[in-house]
Amino acid sequence: MQNYDYIVVGSGSSGSVITNRLSEISNISVCVIEAGGTNQHPYIKMPAGFIKTINDKRFNWCFKTEKNKNVNNREILFPRGKGFGGSSSINGHLYVRGQPDDYNQWSQLGNYGWSYDDILPYFKKSEFKENGSADTRGKDGPLFVSDIVEKHPICEEFIKGSRELGIKIQEDYNSGDQEGIFYYQRTIKNGARYSAYDAFLKTAIKRKNVDVKKNTMVLKIIFEGKKAVGLVCEKNNKIFQIHANKEIILCAGAIGTPHLLQVSGIGNFEHLNEIGVKPVHENKNVGEGLQDHYAVRVANKINLPNSLNEKASGYKLALEIIKWFMFRKGLISYSPAHVGAFLKSSPEIDFPDLQFVFTPASYTEGMIGKLQDHPGITCGVWQSRPQSRGYIRATSNNIKIDPIIQPNYLKEKIDQDILIEGVKMCRKLLKTSNIEKISVNETLPGEHVKTNNEILNFVRNNGATVYHAIGSCKMGVDQSAVVNPSLKILGLENIRVADASIMPTMPSGNTNAATLMIAEKASDLIKKDLN
Ligand SMILES: Cc1cc2nc3c(=O)[nH]c(=O)nc-3n(C[C@H](O)[C@H](O)[C@H](O)COP(=O)(O)OP(=O)(O)OC[C@H]3O[C@@H](n4cnc5c(N)ncnc54)[C@H](O)[C@@H]3O)c2cc1C
Repeated sequence: MQNYDYIVVGSGSSGSVITNRLSEISNISVCVIEAGGTNQHPYIKMPAGFIKTINDKRFNWCFKTEKNKNVNNREILFPRGKGFGGSSSINGHLYVRGQPDDYNQWSQLGNYGWSYDDILPYFKKSEFKENGSADTRGKDGPLFVSDIVEKHPICEEFIKGSRELGIKIQEDYNSGDQEGIFYYQRTIKNGARYSAYDAFLKTAIKRKNVDVKKNTMVLKIIFEGKKAVGLVCEKNNKIFQIHANKEIILCAGAIGTPHLLQVSGIGNFEHLNEIGVKPVHENKNVGEGLQDHYAVRVANKINLPNSLNEKASGYKLALEIIKWFMFRKGLISYSPAHVGAFLKSSPEIDFPDLQFVFTPASYTEGMIGKLQDHPGITCGVWQSRPQSRGYIRATSNNIKIDPIIQPNYLKEKIDQDILIEGVKMCRKLLKTSNIEKISVNETLPGEHVKTNNEILNFVRNNGATVYHAIGSCKMGVDQSAVVNPSLKILGLENIRVADASIMPTMPSGNTNAATLMIAEKASDLIKKDLN
């Protein structure tokens, strides 16, 4: 059996960071195991390749949510990255840290060491950002974060128009104050995606003390009593075991990590018995507490033939592809969202509770995928800190069978109310005089949708994940926790979770930056225990 000091499960955002940081110590051995491949396909490198990888099983687990009455019994496509870089290899590149208050809330819940002041150094450690204040932005980290260079004329009009609504321009929404309108910062370098693989794993796998096992699925964790000692893996239909001398670090993501724990006997014993898993340790919270951002999009048809829709087919698309291969510019170098805003659903609240995305393009039925065949623009919105909670549940003792993913979108009334306000604000943003002069009509939801009930029905029918699953192995000090603030799984030895699943509450933003920060901090916690 092969032996390593540390075994990292998953080479996604968090696994890439941890493999890199642990292997900086040359006299320890690290093995990283990844179910997918190397992800060196042009669709991964091209920022606009996002639209292709969103439903491609070569790079994506392509899960679906369980039906739920709150979203009018729809199954919703639920992408998760597979292969080097994990979800950071198929994500929308937006780099958003959240608000200081998000992390201060984590600390107030008893997670000492996770307040904004505590975790800011880890955000900075990851990052290389040319401009921005050195007080808040990283200047020599491995992750390249860039500003948008090509500013589309329709985006400029959208921003100008927002001034009529009294919205301020936000110079750096990652500096501690989010409120206002801005161009998104992205994990893109010279017009190409810069995933966690590019920033962290690529360096690590060149080191002699790192072994990478790609196209290898972890089937089960092996326990001796309550101590995690190794893994059962499968590659090319061959099953083998590997042994961890010191620790196993789970970085399989907010779906993969609770799923692996459950099939390994860690979970609710009643559930484990139902699916034929031999119980090892009872923790009823494994897989519970799932949170996600649920987005809805308002779209207008416009009278100018200069939206992205017109460039995305036929010979124009071919020219854009050539342009990207030659200069790394144009349509193919664009992220799915260009302009963003953090705004309050009501003037009475302290911090923004809505996040907006604006794109000079429109999609059939508002779902990212196929662009419409007439010029269009889209303003999308989601609630920053949804209150609804769902779950991940294994359906079999075989990890290869997909688990149930039930995010319970819109379960809580407050989530419904805030999204109704969000749709109304999207409409206002698309009715400023700058946008009005180029608009033909509203195509989604359409002018006939007027009352709150009609808007809510539209939200139920047309919303979808914005891919920010968290919270399914929650960090805490109370009865609902799976890991403690050192990220060790409660009641077990030699095993931690260090990915998006540990977030106790949702950060006000897209979740990649927060996941990288968690992994940076986890690496320090592990190194500290080593000394
Ligand atoms: C389509 C999409 C768009 C997104 N857009 C953005 C965005 O624009 N900005 C942003 O900040 N965030 C975005 N996110 C979210 C962000 O990318 C994730 O929060 C983050 O990458 C999660 O990192 P992770 O390490 O927890 O999991 P992942 O990066 O998903 O990594 C988990 C890894 O574990 C592997 N794995 C799982 N199970 C096993 C197993 N049993 N054996 C071996 N390997 C296994 C997986 O294949 C995967 O590589 C997006 C996510 C998606 C899916």
